[in-house]
Amino acid sequence: MPKIQVMDEILANKIAAGEVVERCSSVVKELVENSIDAESTEIKIELIDAGTKEIKVTDNGIGMEHADAINCFARHATSKIRDENDLFHIETLGFRGEALASIASVSKVELRTSTGEVGTVVKINGGVVESVSRGDARRGTVMCIQNLFYNTPARLKHLKSLYTELASITDYVNKIALSHTHIKFILRNNDNVILNTDGTGNLLKTIKDIYGVSVAKKMIAVTGTNPDYQIEGYLSLPEIHRSNRNAMVTLVNGRVVRNAELNRAINDAYHSYKPDNRYPIVVLDITVDPSLVDVNIHPTKMDIKFSKLEELTTLITDMIHQKLQHKTLIPHITETPVIKKEEPKPRYEEMKLNFDQTIYEEATTYIPVNDSFITPEKEQANERLFTEEVSDKKERMPELYPVGIVHGTYIICQNDLGMYMIDQHAAKERINYERYKKEMGNPSDHAISLMFPITIELPANEFIILKENFARLRSLKFEIDEFGMNSVIIKSHPVWLPKDYEEQAIRKIIEVIISCEKNFSIEKFNEKIATMLSCKMAIKANHFISMEEATALLEDLRNCDNPFHCPHGRPTTIFYSNYDIEKLFKRSGF
Ligand code: ZN
Ligand code: ZN
Repeated sequence: MPKIQVMDEILANKIAAGEVVERCSSVVKELVENSIDAESTEIKIELIDAGTKEIKVTDNGIGMEHADAINCFARHATSKIRDENDLFHIETLGFRGEALASIASVSKVELRTSTGEVGTVVKINGGVVESVSRGDARRGTVMCIQNLFYNTPARLKHLKSLYTELASITDYVNKIALSHTHIKFILRNNDNVILNTDGTGNLLKTIKDIYGVSVAKKMIAVTGTNPDYQIEGYLSLPEIHRSNRNAMVTLVNGRVVRNAELNRAINDAYHSYKPDNRYPIVVLDITVDPSLVDVNIHPTKMDIKFSKLEELTTLITDMIHQKLQHKTLIPHITETPVIKKEEPKPRYEEMKLNFDQTIYEEATTYIPVNDSFITPEKEQANERLFTEEVSDKKERMPELYPVGIVHGTYIICQNDLGMYMIDQHAAKERINYERYKKEMGNPSDHAISLMFPITIELPANEFIILKENFARLRSLKFEIDEFGMNSVIIKSHPVWLPKDYEEQAIRKIIEVIISCEKNFSIEKFNEKIATMLSCKMAIKANHFISMEEATALLEDLRNCDNPFHCPHGRPTTIFYSNYDIEKLFKRSGF
């Protein structure tokens, strides 16, 4: 090939690299996917300084023949022959052929590969092949990329920080491990092992390897089917939640996809079981006929369009909701696990550049506290206390006997299993919330006339919105009319308005109507009103109630659809089992 043409090609690769090699994580992704395609059962990813100095991926896959080892760095090298029926492979075609060439053009690469016979070693520097030689015969491929971006310092500077690079690589490897449980993945950065899965094909074990044993113990298995979709996976109990959506993982036909609709369906199912700005840990594996999905071809992310999306989101929401409704969801108070001395230090500790609280939180929870599921018998029994599913809704919340009230705020109760603390405000809020929702969804014909009608003056724009919603308010049994310039008068209101707070409640309801103006939905409106009123009408902290009142409150709570959380998703009840208490007082063999 004439020299000038080679130069052109190197230049073209560098331009392409600009699009492909944006981050260390995109390089890791490319190499790992090649290893998966090579039928590897073990893939080791070793990084130096979050990949900025070195990314080394070692696999035990089929390896490459001598000629392929050189050709794989050529531009437009078509990679492996793919099954045309495998829809998901379309995703990277075209892009993929160029990826290795692009990576090689901005770094120093050493490839060692073998099909099990004679091995090949190829060394490339800034896109130029420096040497090709014989290597050892161990089957598999080692791809080592050094000094990525060394000749594009601007891009190196552009990387947010080693810390965020590592977080993004970890996130990717976690997800690929969840979608390929039969492959053993090892991820290391400098001297720290970040992930080490066992590759036995057990999803729960992989979840344990990623999120730690204490999370894995609080995951519940779910399955769901409709005529088109089949779902299997695990959900965290609502007491486990995180500040971002990273741990909500959806797989479609074994591939990780990102889809806002699916995430929303999952979140909807958890509504009021956890605070709205927190997210559960969920892994759902969705199986579907490929003709029902449409994959958006984009090199860096994987989005997907479903036909029959609504059926799918309903299936997800119902499946999760069903599961949560048949569980006793009282958080167990156990001693905070003590991290043994020989445990590795928090893995990201050496990388506190650009310290970010949310990522730190993610990072620290990756530390497995205990490496085995094996726990003493008594403890197992303790953990089993509430894990069984119950058929009768009411049985989920055990019968409790109040013994006292602390600070006019927490009701202490007992039964055979142990001791419970109930937040009286949260409990009352939940009871009110379910009552308001019921009454609003099913308004009675009665209304209460106000002795002194309320008039409210509004800014012109808000008045217009409100006027458009008169019919809605009237159907809820408010007698509302125009009353001069930009004013309304309310003469009667529905029976469920909290007594002595009528005017306040009416003003709040009007505020909600005005704030919901865009995409008003009656469910959202009812939800907001019920949440707002329930809090207003709940017993405040420091308000002393009698034991009789406490007993009645507990009975009402037991009758709720979800007695475990207030409408804001905070727990109503906390449990100390007899075993937990013995442990805290060091009475049992600890
Ligand atoms: Zn409240
Ligand atoms: Zn609340």
